[in-house]
Amino acid sequence: MARTKGYPEALEKKLRDQRYYREDSDPEFLKKVRGISRTVAHMCYQCGTCTGSCPSAPRSTYRIRKFMRRAVLGLENEALTDPDLWLCTTCYSCSDRCPRDILPTDVIMAMRNLAFKRDIVPVNFLKTVQAIYSSGHGVPNNDVNRAARERLGLTRDPPTTHMYPEYIKGIQKILDHYKLKANADRIVKEREG
Ligand code: SF4
Ligand code: SF4
Repeated sequence: MARTKGYPEALEKKLRDQRYYREDSDPEFLKKVRGISRTVAHMCYQCGTCTGSCPSAPRSTYRIRKFMRRAVLGLENEALTDPDLWLCTTCYSCSDRCPRDILPTDVIMAMRNLAFKRDIVPVNFLKTVQAIYSSGHGVPNNDVNRAARERLGLTRDPPTTHMYPEYIKGIQKILDHYKLKANADRIVKEREG
């Protein structure tokens, strides 16, 4: 980094040292990923079956095998700051086929958890937290759907927290326990003002 000091940011990025050094590796990262995902990420021998199964791979730069390597090598920063981390559809095809019985999907889930703890998270996840907090639903009902339900002979609201809002308090308690809503509000505010 010091080598390119003073260059414009884009050029600095291009000239960045691409080599891997032992000090880039934090073994705690693998431990954290294993602890959260409950899968044997360290057993990956990079066969590539996961990436070959992945529906996101042909249409993007997302490579699940690369994330597995990053887990094994303890490359926390590289993994958590990569926007591709959010392109996994959690289809579990890689987990179905891994010859080492690893669940790469759950490795991605663990990394997303760790990223969120560093405020690295797409805003749509935060908006979902806010929707669940206020209504108990990630996808709440609306007036167009209420009218459609009426035409179908249904109640305007389903027999969920929409019909029984007294249960929303309990949901809020769970989200508050994990400080999810407070963090979501804070990050949305920082991004959108
Ligand atoms: S399929 Fe399993 S062993 Fe093969 S690269 Fe992917 S995670 Fe590693
Ligand atoms: S679970 Fe995610 S990483 Fe695995 S194949 Fe599906 S989209 Fe790809």
